[in-house]
Amino acid sequence: MDAYLYLEKWNTFGRYLSYVLVGLGLLIIIYHYLRLIFTRDFKIRYDYINKNEIRSLWLSTLFIIFGIGVFMNTLVDEGEIIWLLVRVFVIVMLGLILGVIISNLLKFYYPFYIEKRLRRLRYKPRRSPKTGKAMKLLSEEEEDVYLDEGMQAEENVFSVDYDVWIDEETGYTKIEKYAGHLVALQCPECSYQTLKVIKEEILESPTESEEGELMKFYKCDYCGYKERKAFRVAKLKMTVGINKSNINP
Ligand SMILES: [Zn+2]
Repeated sequence: MDAYLYLEKWNTFGRYLSYVLVGLGLLIIIYHYLRLIFTRDFKIRYDYINKNEIRSLWLSTLFIIFGIGVFMNTLVDEGEIIWLLVRVFVIVMLGLILGVIISNLLKFYYPFYIEKRLRRLRYKPRRSPKTGKAMKLLSEEEEDVYLDEGMQAEENVFSVDYDVWIDEETGYTKIEKYAGHLVALQCPECSYQTLKVIKEEILESPTESEEGELMKFYKCDYCGYKERKAFRVAKLKMTVGINKSNINP
């Protein structure tokens, strides 16, 4: 008799709990998309999607699955304790399976969709704050004039790309930094195409007379396998002035 009373209490409480959980899950998604809508700058929106979208969707999925699971456990008001346990077990298993499926979708299929959206955002013409007109994206050859030496070195050595937008009327420029060449490699451990550079570190800076050394740290998105590899960095190019003085000492 007492057991039924507890079950009834749980049913009432559990139902509220499930509403709260599903509500939180929905709020996370709504918050994410509202923020995107109100972020006017394409580059900031780009970074926000890149950094948060998959994580937000996953967190929201967890809340919703958990909420649905709790809700399903509040539907029956009577029964033997053994069937109650069986039901809880089955629902937990179903929840786990659903969680694994959605997690894999987010990890392996969703990134293609995100990449497409990001590419569109990256090349959408920027508006000049001076004239309100569309700016022009400079080509790799044209942009060097606008990048300082450090930025050019970064482009050459690291997996970094700079985009330079110019307002041709006023000469106003907007420089945006992107992770470049972000093609994932094949993981030697699990064979998926999910090995990515997560960090780069200069061990030795190149000089005009000697090559430098760069360490790249890789991590597999799928199995977590990690490795690092050292790369040589080309000698610094001599500037024209030094060249001349070398030729005519
Ligand atoms: Zn792997």
